[in-house]
Amino acid sequence: MLSGKIAVITGSTSGIGEGYARALAKEGCHLVINGFGDAQEIETLRTSIEQEHGIKCLYSSADMTKPDDIAEMFDMTVREFGGMDILINNAGIQHVSPIADFPVEKWDAIIAINLSSAFHTMRHAIPIMTKRGWGRIINTASAHALVASPNKAAYVAAKHGIAGLTKTAALEVARDNITVNAICPGYVWTPLVERQIPDTARTRGMTEEQVINEVMLAAAATKKFTTIEQIAAFAVFLCSDAAENITGALHSIDGGWTAQ
Ligand code: NAD
Repeated sequence: MLSGKIAVITGSTSGIGEGYARALAKEGCHLVINGFGDAQEIETLRTSIEQEHGIKCLYSSADMTKPDDIAEMFDMTVREFGGMDILINNAGIQHVSPIADFPVEKWDAIIAINLSSAFHTMRHAIPIMTKRGWGRIINTASAHALVASPNKAAYVAAKHGIAGLTKTAALEVARDNITVNAICPGYVWTPLVERQIPDTARTRGMTEEQVINEVMLAAAATKKFTTIEQIAAFAVFLCSDAAENITGALHSIDGGWTAQ
């Protein structure tokens, strides 16, 4: 069904983004992966996805804070593949601090990467999709697109922003066979989350087990982390024909966090 489609996935050198890449490659999509990391590790990831699934996988080093880099990523995609069909905006960073102490450069970076980059990618992707008469745009938002937590001002603002951007874009392209949706995960077991555990344990004077149960899973009714594979499987569904009338929606995958 998705075989031969071309997917551009920002922030796909690790975590949830890598999960989307692997799941779409399994469906036969060609890929443009993007993100930071060790050059050799990224090359190993790129070639392993190609070999495992028999698809073509390109890498763009575009920095999502730079609109010119984003333009070049789409130029490369069109040059190499002749177009694109699926866009997943996933690159994201976090910084935790009260507003009064929040470093201005962290605010700017989070708004740029977690929100503005999705505006820039859509500016390029929508005309290409409209011309091809089909498209799927998926934004990785967060439970923090729906509810707030203290000390995450920039992240919560950016994720609420991406929720609004998702709805607006969906309405603009609704008659063009293009859907735009956001996935709103609670805590997902990724390297980003794993790295936070020892730091939070240290700063809060807790054991790592307490951090997991009393901080990370405190709000999840199921008391379970979501897995990368579960998020990626939902994204594959959103790309399917069965999901053609699902658009402008914010899809919670958070173990009941935001039901409360
Ligand atoms: P991660 O750190 O594993 O992945 C982040 C990706 O973004 C990496 O590939 C990184 O290189 C890339 N990136 C960072 N800055 C970039 C930049 N300037 N330009 C290009 N790429 C850049 O994190 P993750 O947990 O997989 O998070 C992915 C997305 O999911 C983020 O948008 C995050 O906010 C969201 N999310 C994560 C969780 C969670 O619990 N892990 C929960 C809800 C939402």
